[in-house]
Amino acid sequence: MNTIPHWINGSPLPGSSTAPVFNPATGAEQARVVLGGAAEVDAAVQAATAAFETWSESSLTQRVQVMFAFRQLLVEHEEELGRIISAEHGKTVDDARGEITRGREVVEYVCGLGDVLKGSFSDQVSRGIDVHNFRQPLGVVAGITPFNFPAMVPLWMHPIAIATGNTFILKPSERDPSAANFVAELYQKAGLPDGVFNVVHGGKDAVDALLTHPGIEAVSFVGSTPIAKYVHEQATSHGKRVQALGGAKNHAVVLPDADLEFAADHITAGAYGSAGERCMAVSVAVAVGDAADALVAVLERKANEVQVGPGDAPGTDMGPLVTKAAQERVENAVGTAAAQGATVVVDGRGLKIDGHEEGFFTGPSLLDHVTTEMAAYQEELFGPVLAVVRVDTLDQAIDLINANPYGNGTALFTASGEAARRFQRRIKVGMIGINVPVPVPMSYYSFGGWKDSLIGDSPIHGPEGIRFYTRPKVVTTRWPQPAQQVTAGFTFPTSS
Ligand code: NAD
Repeated sequence: MNTIPHWINGSPLPGSSTAPVFNPATGAEQARVVLGGAAEVDAAVQAATAAFETWSESSLTQRVQVMFAFRQLLVEHEEELGRIISAEHGKTVDDARGEITRGREVVEYVCGLGDVLKGSFSDQVSRGIDVHNFRQPLGVVAGITPFNFPAMVPLWMHPIAIATGNTFILKPSERDPSAANFVAELYQKAGLPDGVFNVVHGGKDAVDALLTHPGIEAVSFVGSTPIAKYVHEQATSHGKRVQALGGAKNHAVVLPDADLEFAADHITAGAYGSAGERCMAVSVAVAVGDAADALVAVLERKANEVQVGPGDAPGTDMGPLVTKAAQERVENAVGTAAAQGATVVVDGRGLKIDGHEEGFFTGPSLLDHVTTEMAAYQEELFGPVLAVVRVDTLDQAIDLINANPYGNGTALFTASGEAARRFQRRIKVGMIGINVPVPVPMSYYSFGGWKDSLIGDSPIHGPEGIRFYTRPKVVTTRWPQPAQQVTAGFTFPTSS
């Protein structure tokens, strides 16, 4: 059986301890992944520290050229990488290609780094004195990433970190680890020097070693909220800069003036795409006023039309969940919702796919009359379950969303500009879609939620990513002419 190794200093590194990697569509173990700890993290830090000496001195042009070559390789290998992701995650190959494209956009952003990283210059701020600023890399930085986007989420991090002159250690999810090694090989083909991009596989032991290692300057984390809080606390207490993105419960509000067919179509795709395993998945539809009955009727029809099957089969809309435990958790949540009084309009439990009876499949579930007291509303289910909550007014919908502990994404479906403006100004959520169900920002903006969806203060990629992976210097310069009399004073300097 194939064992997926670490990737340190440009070469695979085996390990003795391993964990299974499943094919979620068949339920079969298809590979093993090595599990690293303090020793592997230390080896990666040593390689990255040595590489930083030369990489941080390389020219901006050289770093951008590597990114151009890397970008081209991502285009050429999109199908291959998409299939690798689909086989370990379960999502459809097309969906996996979509995440590669969205991740590649971050590479495209840093291909224009020359413009993005320009400092500023102020002439003659005082007589004979100029001021300019510039930003420099931090050193060795680490990224810890979730299973649900094994290519895109790491791509939110490493292209920016590397292009700005840092060296990088990725600790991907142990559930779908192969994409990280494939990307490491693409970087090598693109001409990235060995040791600049490293991969340490593993779970808590590897993470803890990264959070405490004195050679690591900064940690980027994306995953569930409890682990985001833990990572933020541990890494900051060890003197590191941290960005930590957490979980979500994303609401799509539908006003009675919305085109219900359009809204239901987009909410269905946003709820069940990637089997609901997206941090921007729509998990709650908030039906306002007399939109509710008609909306639920269309949502029911569309949920029943979703084609569930293996991610590599043509025509599949939605694949299996990532693990058997995830499948059981989601199906139990539907049962609990029914017991707590929700109406199960579409029941996805117990779905069997011909020829894939052991796969981790569950069908789309649609729950109506869900209230904020129910577990199906309070918990991030991270599966293909859409809960409909009914309210009377837009203001009630806004208050409901603002009372939720998460604040990652939200959407409003309406034909009213006034309602849209009121919503986007009052809502306590970081990413907002107006008639857009999954409003993931483009790479030249930054991605991040509010409240429990983002711990600390740093969103990811875009301008915030550049800021996160660099620190500023401000230089005040005077070049006096030899004959010029410049007298020093003992009072605090002010400009003249
Ligand atoms: P997770 O929190 O279980 O794992 C994320 C990473 O942390 C993995 O690399 C994992 O190995 C590591 N980890 C897990 N348990 C740990 C522990 N006890 N100590 C130290 N490290 C640990 O998340 P997941 O199940 O892989 O991914 C799904 C979660 O990620 C969902 O909550 C989803 O909303 C969230 N997510 C958020 C965003 C965002 O941008 N806000 C994006 C994608 C996913």
